[in-house]
Amino acid sequence: MRWPQIFILLVSLNLGTVMAADIAIVVHGGAGTINREALTPELEAEYRSKLEASVSAGYSILKAGGASIDAVTAAITVLEDSPLFNAGVGSVLNNDGRVEMDASIMEGKSLNAGAVAGLQHVRNPILLAQAVLDKSPHVMLMGEGAEAFAREQGFDMVGNHEFRTKRRQEQLRRAQAAADSVSLSEEGADTFRGADASGADHEKSPLGTVGAVAIDASGTIVAGTSTGGMTNKRFGRIGDSPIIGAGTYAKNGVCGISATGHGEFFIRAAVAHDICARVSYQDTSLDAAADEVVNKVLREMGADGGVIGIDADANVVMQFNSSGMYRAAVDRHGKLSTAIFAD
Ligand code: ASP
Repeated sequence: MRWPQIFILLVSLNLGTVMAADIAIVVHGGAGTINREALTPELEAEYRSKLEASVSAGYSILKAGGASIDAVTAAITVLEDSPLFNAGVGSVLNNDGRVEMDASIMEGKSLNAGAVAGLQHVRNPILLAQAVLDKSPHVMLMGEGAEAFAREQGFDMVGNHEFRTKRRQEQLRRAQAAADSVSLSEEGADTFRGADASGADHEKSPLGTVGAVAIDASGTIVAGTSTGGMTNKRFGRIGDSPIIGAGTYAKNGVCGISATGHGEFFIRAAVAHDICARVSYQDTSLDAAADEVVNKVLREMGADGGVIGIDADANVVMQFNSSGMYRAAVDRHGKLSTAIFAD
């Protein structure tokens, strides 16, 4: 190669780096009432290290020039594979003592989305949501139909009993005892998230839904969410996590959101879409829009929880109105952080 050619090559490589958009990724492992005293330093370290592993798995894909959809699924599968979080192998139990999982993913360039609900035998629901997005003409599949699709796609199916950990069985027992001791007519809809399932556990209302939002160098924003739902939920109940616009939403040029909290409220407030719509229509920052929805709209409804998000400039947002939210991010400057409580 001659010197002029080398010069042109170097200039174009440099332009390539200048023109590539900032990358960033943020993950959550659920929001709710976390009992500070019962969260030992060892357990806190375990949570932080898993959150860091998750966000790093996603970030290394983005850094290598990979797509945000792969970063989001890589980050979420790390959390689904950990019994610490309420998703995949750590999912909470419904009132039948079984695990029923929901997940969704949305890609902000095509506005294509995939969602699955009521899964009982799929180890990594987020990967099935991605398969619905990539390989089906549909957006949402549920129950037996979703699992038949999983088998067709070559997913390994696991027995529902394999998800049933001792900790989740104990939480269910406590939640059912607490629910029995209150009059359901008095308590209305807030029977399971509000029920004290904590005992010696560090989580008052079992939480841990997981989610991730990422923006890649092409500016494509993807958001994904995966959950076991809520302890002692009625068999067949579906929360906000697989509902596009409630638990998950992404639109290039605007923002991506993954939510966690009391799903019944998050569905009614169309949380993820409402935040992105405010950014889009009101010329407001993502931070201000998320703050308004989480700390005003949801709070006024009496709903606890939070959201993570990324805007078109790769700014990261983490907002919650509960005592804590397991979370981690690598921001657009490449800075990694993990946190649990508000302070
Ligand atoms: N949003 C989830 C649901 O309602 C639960 C959670 O995030 O804690 O299913």
